[in-house]
This record gives sequence, structure tokens and C-alpha cells, in this order.
Amino acid sequence: MKHYVVAVDGPAAAGKSTISKRLAKILGFTYIDTGAMYRAFTEYVLRKGVDPKDEKACCALIPEVEIELFPDGKVICSGKDVTREIREPHVSGNVSYIASYKEIRLALVELQRKMGEKSSVIMDGRDIGTYVFPNADVKIFQVASVEERAKRRYIENQEKGIPCTYEDIVADVEKRDRIDSSRAFAPLKPAEDSILLDTSKLNIEESVEAALKIIRDKIGE
Ligand code: C5P
Repeated sequence: MKHYVVAVDGPAAAGKSTISKRLAKILGFTYIDTGAMYRAFTEYVLRKGVDPKDEKACCALIPEVEIELFPDGKVICSGKDVTREIREPHVSGNVSYIASYKEIRLALVELQRKMGEKSSVIMDGRDIGTYVFPNADVKIFQVASVEERAKRRYIENQEKGIPCTYEDIVADVEKRDRIDSSRAFAPLKPAEDSILLDTSKLNIEESVEAALKIIRDKIGE
């Protein structure tokens, strides 16, 4: 049976994971949150007391880092449940440095490609359509205004009990987008054959409907 790959890329806090999780449920595909993998690696760097800006020291940890993603969203990294911690500001504030290191990206991309071979997947990230799966069946580039993205992430953090201010979120989202778009290797950018989905004025249900239409038009499921 053919395994489909749906790539959902876009800037920080655009609602990619919320939409992708719902799409996966509807279509019976496996949802893979690649951001969680970069976040888990970052947590490990901080756990070991390594400076996230020290590329050589961070890359030296690659053999020690073992990341497992579970269907219920649980993330285990080298023996520790990091599900909650990877969403906290100290990880968010450093993850884009870690994600800019080519050696670390290559290690995580290898895992992502293996995951994509096992079943039909919806994978969200920054470089899925451009680098991880350049032949993905469907490529969605999901965007929303910075204000809308920050508002949504602020509400999400409040619900999860993660302390932050709206201003902190705007600063975090802008900083990550800047570093993610300007890195040398596999930067954040729309694939040439991606379809733009702007959810600034759409609620979750409308966004899911719009994404489903894009997917069904492409793969006819
Ligand atoms: O998707 P999320 O916002 O959780 O991703 C956290 C960070 O991980 C991003 O800001 C980016 O630096 C990095 N990332 C990446 N490539 C991916 C997924 C995430 O560089 N495919």
C-alpha cells in the first residue's frame, strides 16, 4: 500500500501542530512533530550544562541523544520524560541555535525519514517540504500574522500553565523566525510547489477544512 507524506511547514506558532494532529486523526495518518525533536535535543544540551551557542560541544552530544515520540504526544529523551519541559521558555529561547547546526539536523532528519517510511504521515516543521521529503505528496505552508500567532500561543501556554507574557511570546516567535529563516542549512522557506494556507482569519475548524481540501485535491482520499 502506498504511504503518503503530507508536509506542513511554516513559521513559529502558526498552528501547524493543532491542525496537523486533527488532520492525522481524520485521515488515519501518523502525526510527527519534528519541532519536538529539536526541542528535546535542546533540553538535553541544557540538562548537560552545555552552552547552546557552542556548536562543537552541542554536536558532540549526538551519540548520547535518543529521542522517542509517542502517539499520545509524550516525548522521552535519553531516559527522561521531557513532554512538558520542551514547551517552556528556556527551551523555546534556545532551540533555534540547536536547529541551526547541520550535524544535528542530519541526525534528526535521518530519524524523520525513517518514520516516513513506516506509514502515511503528516509531518510538521520548517524544512519538511524543502529538505526532509522534497517529493512529499502534499506540501502545505501554513502562515498567520505575528499578532495572531502570539495570541494563540499565549492562550495555549495559559492553558498548559506555562508562565509567560504576550510580549515575551512576540519576541520569542520573531527571534525564532529570524534565526530559522536565515540559517545556512535547510532554512525555513516555502517549497516552490507548496500551497500557502493563511489561517490569520480562520478558526481551527475552518483551517482544518481548508487543509483537508488541499490534501484531497492532491491525493484524492
Ligand atoms: O515547531 P516548533 O515551533 O515546536 O519548533 C521549534 C524549533 O525547532 C523551531 O523554531 C526551529 O528552530 C526548529 N525546527 C526546525 N526544523 C523543523 C522543526 C523545527 O528547525 N523541521
